[in-house]
Amino acid sequence: MSFEDLGLSPEVFRAVTDAGYTAPTPIQAQAIPYVLMGRDVLGCAQTGTGKTASFTLPMIDILAAGRARARMPRSLIIEPTRELAAQVAEAFNTYGKYNKLEQALLIGGESFSDQERKLDRGVDVLIATPGRLIDLYERGKILLSDVKILVIDEADRMLDMGFIPDVERIVGLLSKIRQTLFFSATMPPEIRRLADAFLMNPKEITVSPPASTAITVTQGIAVVTTEGKRDALRRLIRSEDVKNAIIFCNRKRDVDVLNRSLVKHGFDAAALHGDMPQSKRTETLERFKANEIRFLVASDVAARGLDVQGMSHVYNFDVPIHAEDYVHRIGRTGRGGREGIAYTLATPEDGRFVEAIQQLIGKPIPTIVIPGVEAQELSAEDAPRGRGRGGRGGRTGSNDRNRRPAPSREKQAPVAAAEAAQPEVVADVQVSAPVEKPAREHKPRERSRGPRNSERNAEPKERTFAPITMNPSDHGNVTKMPRRDDRHDNDDDDRRVVGFGDHMPAFLARARVAR
Ligand code: AMP
Repeated sequence: MSFEDLGLSPEVFRAVTDAGYTAPTPIQAQAIPYVLMGRDVLGCAQTGTGKTASFTLPMIDILAAGRARARMPRSLIIEPTRELAAQVAEAFNTYGKYNKLEQALLIGGESFSDQERKLDRGVDVLIATPGRLIDLYERGKILLSDVKILVIDEADRMLDMGFIPDVERIVGLLSKIRQTLFFSATMPPEIRRLADAFLMNPKEITVSPPASTAITVTQGIAVVTTEGKRDALRRLIRSEDVKNAIIFCNRKRDVDVLNRSLVKHGFDAAALHGDMPQSKRTETLERFKANEIRFLVASDVAARGLDVQGMSHVYNFDVPIHAEDYVHRIGRTGRGGREGIAYTLATPEDGRFVEAIQQLIGKPIPTIVIPGVEAQELSAEDAPRGRGRGGRGGRTGSNDRNRRPAPSREKQAPVAAAEAAQPEVVADVQVSAPVEKPAREHKPRERSRGPRNSERNAEPKERTFAPITMNPSDHGNVTKMPRRDDRHDNDDDDRRVVGFGDHMPAFLARARVAR
């Protein structure tokens, strides 16, 4: 199958050829003809499969005829994170360069007035994160009734981030006469229910098993002590020719600590997580993509969809708690058939998480030995209470590990103190054969798949209370509960709003002054 067989216009075909693509990927080959036909599509595909072009290319052709009216976009693409939204906007620039389509990117952390001005001029393609879109709608800056094509991308990620109510609200604002393209890397029942509600007689396309890792990625895992992790990471990095790498941490706080540590040790590193201002996030990512920074220390905000060409390495400084995150993280390397290397540093308490990952990917991760670093054993037991593992606290759910307190102070020790006098030895890494575990029944823990308000790389939270506007006549009821996206519309949002319900705490009560 070639792009010429898909029914795309000469303009789009030229743009695709300019991009250097010679043949459509499976999702493109299967989806594009149906999208061009006007059919709804339910695509089970993860990033890295060419999914973005599978909807942008036919959309450009469909939208080529017709003009947008002010504030009434003709198509809408909802993305869970600002980075993914920006990437889709880039794809429209690349593939739509021979077409004259107006596009607008509505993401949090950027000026409202610029976005409003764009909307006023009329846009053919609107790419948005849910929070900012609802904000602009509530401000009366946008009308969604003219949207003829809706794309919901990374639906399972939206679910993880608690965005589904926002997405349902947005879809409720659209005309029922529309074409809907719905993509998700996985199809848990909640996502299936949404797809059933949003789509009409969709063409279902599944292009790869949701949990597969690219065969071009060489994987390895080293079990080390928690205290020795940073040293182990440095040795690991220095032992190979690393062109550029993302280093994933489970918690935003650890992203900053590790980044400072690496910089202190002379590594060309920068941090990326959702608590950073959007302008800084964008700038950091741009610099990383432009090879101005070699190491990006990141939370899972960078795990999905980020497309950095030719990234040589991914390091998991922490074992991800959700096994699927492992697949997404290591999928940042080995893209487009290139070779990539993904190393994971585990601590003995990570046994269950490593096991769940291996179960998901269907094979053991080969153990690597880092000379100079004493190898530890994985334990199948949970970490004892009070010895957190840098996991995601703050989530609700029955799982005990989610309720563990933050790691003890010494594990969070300031970089300088923790690392003084650690010898620096450049070491080779030996990859050994997979360690066969004694056979025993594997029971990965049940994970709650319900909507979560915090995101995948959430962490034990210091509670921050968002301002609550009180209406005096309401006797203590919260009258304006700031929505998640009033504060951040990204996946790293972790603040909590506390409402008092019908109960008015004594400290809020004011005696009535008789006139
Ligand atoms: P996506 O899954 O949309 O994030 O795409 C992953 C990567 O594949 C991006 O870098 C695209 O530029 C690239 N890509 C998309 N379609 C093709 C194709 N037909 N041939 C080669 N590369 C492609």
